[in-house]
Amino acid sequence: MRIGTNHGSLSDRILSRYGDTPLGMVESAFEFLRICEDLNYHNIVISMKASNTQVMVQAYRLLVQKMIETNRNYPLHLGVTEAGDGEDGRIKSAVGIGALLEDGLGDTVRVSLTEDPEFEIPVAKALVDRYSEEKLKQHQSIEPLHSENGKVKLSYNPYDYQRRESVSVNNIGGHNVPRIIADFSERESISPATFFPVGYNYSVPLDKWNINDLACDYVYVGDNHVDFDIPGTLGIIYNSEAWKELENPLRQYPLFCGEEFFKSEKTHPELNFVAVTKEVLTPEFVSKIKNTKNIVLIADSFNPHAMPELRRLFISLTEQGIQLPIIVKRNYKDISEQDFQLGSSAEVGALLLDGLGDGLWLKQQNCTSPQVANSTAFGILQATRTRISKPEYISCPSCGRTLFDLQETTSKIRERTDHLKGIKIGIMGCIVNGQAKWLMRIMDM
Ligand code: SF4
Repeated sequence: MRIGTNHGSLSDRILSRYGDTPLGMVESAFEFLRICEDLNYHNIVISMKASNTQVMVQAYRLLVQKMIETNRNYPLHLGVTEAGDGEDGRIKSAVGIGALLEDGLGDTVRVSLTEDPEFEIPVAKALVDRYSEEKLKQHQSIEPLHSENGKVKLSYNPYDYQRRESVSVNNIGGHNVPRIIADFSERESISPATFFPVGYNYSVPLDKWNINDLACDYVYVGDNHVDFDIPGTLGIIYNSEAWKELENPLRQYPLFCGEEFFKSEKTHPELNFVAVTKEVLTPEFVSKIKNTKNIVLIADSFNPHAMPELRRLFISLTEQGIQLPIIVKRNYKDISEQDFQLGSSAEVGALLLDGLGDGLWLKQQNCTSPQVANSTAFGILQATRTRISKPEYISCPSCGRTLFDLQETTSKIRERTDHLKGIKIGIMGCIVNGQAKWLMRIMDM
C-alpha cells in the first residue's frame, strides 16, 4: 500500500500547524504511517509528490532523515506530480526524480505526463537506466565530507533552498539569474545565422538583432572568429590564445584552462573564464584564485557519476572561502536527444536545486540540435525555479475521472498563454485536487 502525500492537498490540520512545507508533507505521511504500524501493517511504500521540484526533493530528503531517526526504512516511490507535457514535463520530471536518484534515493518511479500513458514509460525507463549498477560501478569515489564528533558538516541546507553566496563578476553570480552558455566551438565558421537557434534573429531590412526570451547569455566559439556586430546582450567567449589576437574585444572574453590564467601576460580586466576540475583545484591554485576578482570558474567533471563530484567541488570551495561565481559545464556526446535532456536535467538540476551554480554550459556533440540544447538549458533553470523565462504549466496526467480532453485543452491554453512569462497555470481534470470540473488557476510567482 502506498501512503502518498501530495503537496497540493494537505489536510487543514497539517496546514494550520506546519503550512504547506516539506515538513508538513512528512508529518502528513507519518500520521498515516503510525495508523498502519499500530495495526501491525508494514507493507508500505511512501511518496511525497509536489509539482514544485524544490519542495518535492526537500520533502523526500526530510522523510528519509526522519525515517533514519525513528528507525524506519520504508521504500520510496518518486514522482513530480502534474509535471505537464512535452519537453517541459520531461525536464521537470528528470530534475525532481533525477536529483533523488543521483543520491541513491528511490525504489519506484512514475513520470506523470499530460500525454497518453504509454509515453511515460520510456522516459521513466531511460531515467532509471542512468543509475544501473553496471554504470555506477564505473565511477570514481567522491571525497567524503568533513565531520565533527561523528556529525557531517554541510555548507548548505539540503532541506531549504538557498543560493550559494557568490560575488558578481560582470553579469554572472551575486544576484544575477544563472547564465546560459551555448557552445559553437566545433563549428568551422560562425555567421549571424549560427545564433538563430539560441534566441537571436538578425533582421536584414531593419539591420537589427531581435532577441527572444530564450536567448542565451554567452556563446563559446573556441578558436573561431566572429567578424560581425554581435547582439548587445550577448558575450562571446574565445579560447585564450584566439582572444589575445582580437583587435576590438568589446563583450568578448577569454577562456583559460586552470593555471594558464596565472601564467598569461594578458587577461581581461573585468571577466575571464577559467576551466577547473577537482584535479585542478589544488590548495596552491585555490589560494591564488582567492585574491582574484575578475574570474568566473567553469566547473566540469570526468567522473561518470559527475553530480556528486561537482557538488563536492562546490562544498570544498565554499569551505575555503571562495565566492567566485561557478558555472557548471557538462559534455554529452553520441547519445540520443532524450538521454541528453534527461541526463543533463538530472545532473545539473540536482546542483541547482541546492543553490549550486551560477550558470550552465551544456556541450553536446551528435546528440541534438543547438536549439534543443538551448531550450533544455532554459528548461532546467525553469524546472528548478532558478530562472523563469516562460509560463509554468502544472497539468495533471489525466485518469478515469477526467471528463474532457485534457491534452487538447492543455494545448489550447498553451497557445493562448505562451507569452505570459512568470506565471503558473494549473490545469486539472477533476475536482479531486481541489478544483471544480476543470479550472485554470493563475497565480503570481
Ligand atoms: S483527472 Fe483528477 S484524479 Fe485524475 S489525474 Fe487529473 S486531477 Fe488527478
